[in-house]
Amino acid sequence: MVLKSPRREAVATITALSPKQQETSFMDNGRLDARQLYGSNVFTEEVMKSRLPENVYKAIRNTIRKGAPLDHTVADVVATAMKEWAMERGATHYTHWFLPMTGLTAEKHDSFLSPTELGTAIAEFSGKELVRGEPDASSFPSGGIRATFEARGYTAWDPTSPAFILENPYGTTLCIPTAFCSWTGEALDKKTPLLRSMEALSKQSLRILKLFGSTASKVYPTAGPEQEYFLIDKHFYHARPDLINAGRTLFGAKPPKGQEMEDHYFGAIPERVLACMLETETELYKLGVPVKTRHNEVAPAQYEIAPIFENANVATDHNMLVMETMKRVASRHGLQLLLHEKPFAGVNGSGKHLNWSLSDDHGNNLLKPGDTPHENAQFLLFLAAVTRAVSKHGDLLRVAIAHAGNDHRLGANEAPPAIISIFLGDMLQDIVDQIEKGSMTSTKSGGTLQIGVSTLPTLPRDAGDRNRTSPFAFTGNKFEFRAVGSSQSISGPNVVLNTIVAESLDYLATHLEDAVSKGKDLNKEIQSLLAKVIKESKQVIFNGDNYSPEWHAEAEKRGLPNRTNTVDSLPDLISAKSIAMFNKYGVFTEREIHSRYEIFLENYKKTINIESQLTLQIATRMILPAALRYQSEVAHAISSLKSAGVHPPATEVNLLNDLTTTIGELQERIADLDAATSKHAEGDSFAHAKYSRDAIIPAMNAVRAAGDKLETIVADDLWPLPTYQEMLFIK
Ligand code: ADP
Ligand code: MG
Repeated sequence: MVLKSPRREAVATITALSPKQQETSFMDNGRLDARQLYGSNVFTEEVMKSRLPENVYKAIRNTIRKGAPLDHTVADVVATAMKEWAMERGATHYTHWFLPMTGLTAEKHDSFLSPTELGTAIAEFSGKELVRGEPDASSFPSGGIRATFEARGYTAWDPTSPAFILENPYGTTLCIPTAFCSWTGEALDKKTPLLRSMEALSKQSLRILKLFGSTASKVYPTAGPEQEYFLIDKHFYHARPDLINAGRTLFGAKPPKGQEMEDHYFGAIPERVLACMLETETELYKLGVPVKTRHNEVAPAQYEIAPIFENANVATDHNMLVMETMKRVASRHGLQLLLHEKPFAGVNGSGKHLNWSLSDDHGNNLLKPGDTPHENAQFLLFLAAVTRAVSKHGDLLRVAIAHAGNDHRLGANEAPPAIISIFLGDMLQDIVDQIEKGSMTSTKSGGTLQIGVSTLPTLPRDAGDRNRTSPFAFTGNKFEFRAVGSSQSISGPNVVLNTIVAESLDYLATHLEDAVSKGKDLNKEIQSLLAKVIKESKQVIFNGDNYSPEWHAEAEKRGLPNRTNTVDSLPDLISAKSIAMFNKYGVFTEREIHSRYEIFLENYKKTINIESQLTLQIATRMILPAALRYQSEVAHAISSLKSAGVHPPATEVNLLNDLTTTIGELQERIADLDAATSKHAEGDSFAHAKYSRDAIIPAMNAVRAAGDKLETIVADDLWPLPTYQEMLFIK
């Protein structure tokens, strides 16, 4: 009997596919004009300049660049211009676009048209609609801040992130980036704390810059997230309930060929995938997202896209657009985007390297070593601030990347360990050592090192060796936070970085301002302060191999925390130290921190719960039936031999025994998992999350082990799930 298998049909269909041509109105003789395309769907400052009266344009520009308060008459004029611009581009609706705690984006569309008394409709969109919205928000996670009966949540326009138009074959919508708060003003989203943390960071950075006579009026963090992802054929995806519902495979035996040949990294991009990438980039260009590089990653079917860096708020919004656009466009090409940190066991997972630096409003990168000793003293202060911040609050950086998906990746020798340390590189390390000792001769760079006077040697412009194993590495003119998960918003990591660095800058500035006011010599003070800070923070600096077991032992000796999983990490968020700091810099109130803690725990528990239900479903209804069918086939073959008078060979009987034993194992393990999931853990949400980690995950892994073993025994034509080999290599 030949069964119709969706898996086999998928393979046949995919083999016949060819790359899809790109369709766009910006084609010129069959070629794309990137200059015309770029930002064509963005309400940029340039568009505002051409469409707004000069005084209004100046007012809004002041709000965008300097955070000046916005007058409602200005908002009205901007709204009208925005509406006209959007309607000219075919927009019929507008939406306040926001970033709720789901980690996704949310939209509620309103039509531009309002009915009139005369039975007609007029386009209505004023400053009021632009500035504030009131979506029914009862179903977004609030972690206890807002009871469902207080459904009201407010969205507030964020003029610092430009409005844009989302095109869709069925209609076009004006999207206005907004912050999302409760009626008491508490943050319910990922933008509000980000903006607050940027404010705090700017204020403290300016104090340092002022000591050096800078005229800058604002400092902002810059971010460039390198996004990794997988693309597989949609036919396979649809045949895998685990991918559809959990974003990762919960079963799948290791394929004969994995990534060991290292033939995928930076290899030629398959044509179908390239077509998809090109169209994604076209769409992102229209949205003004400056995507720049694309390449194959280490694992088969894995790729990376990286933008040019932007201010952290815009970069955060843009990374959300990158993830969503990739998903949408992939679908048009019959491909499925997988953003999960570990879609395939035994194959490298995906991360998002968050490149982070500081820039003043004159465009100076504050983490770039300068040409003069004066500039370098300032650079070293900022570098020391970051080092001190990581040494004091590495636990919070760990919290910022803690979620169920990332637990599969961190410490798996493909991604940095869960121990947070900082990499400075040899040259910088040498300088730091000299400063600490107070002996100012640098052996590696030669010459005498004195900060703030003319004898300071030129600092290295490039951090020599690029350590790929460090979770947080200085890479010449920026830091690279490499432990961020591929699926997560970069808001959280940015919020933590901004706030902890603001705190250290505050500490440095307070000390130096005090010294200057007492008439002390600034250079000398900087020198001794740097030595002190380095001494106090150096336990967090590590330039070696972060994957090595020696480092784990050494880190323990140094007292660095090693929170190997989400459940161990999250309580650090609600420590007294964390609450005091976030509070002091106006980033989170205590209630807001607790609400986030609850949301993260809840999210962890729900994720594991969904995965365990899927594991049960797939094991019981797909794997077990296939194994039983095969068992009956083998048994039938043996009995036919017997009835034909042939003695069945031992190997055949062994096969049947092996199969029968493994089927028995699978059934037992299914029963165990079933029992584990039907028990309810006593206690608070932490107890629930802990139970998921300690009881459910191991039971789930045990079911998988039996299922994967069956995959290596059962006849291929009976196996219901697309295999790793098929998903990773057929496109
Ligand atoms: P790599 O060799 O790691 O690819 P790049 O310099 O090309 O190094 O940068 C990688 C990422 O870092 C890019 O997304 C880039 O925009 C970002 N980046 C570069 N400079 C900065 C900066 N000053 N602040 C934030 N991100 C930056
Ligand atoms: Mg990089």
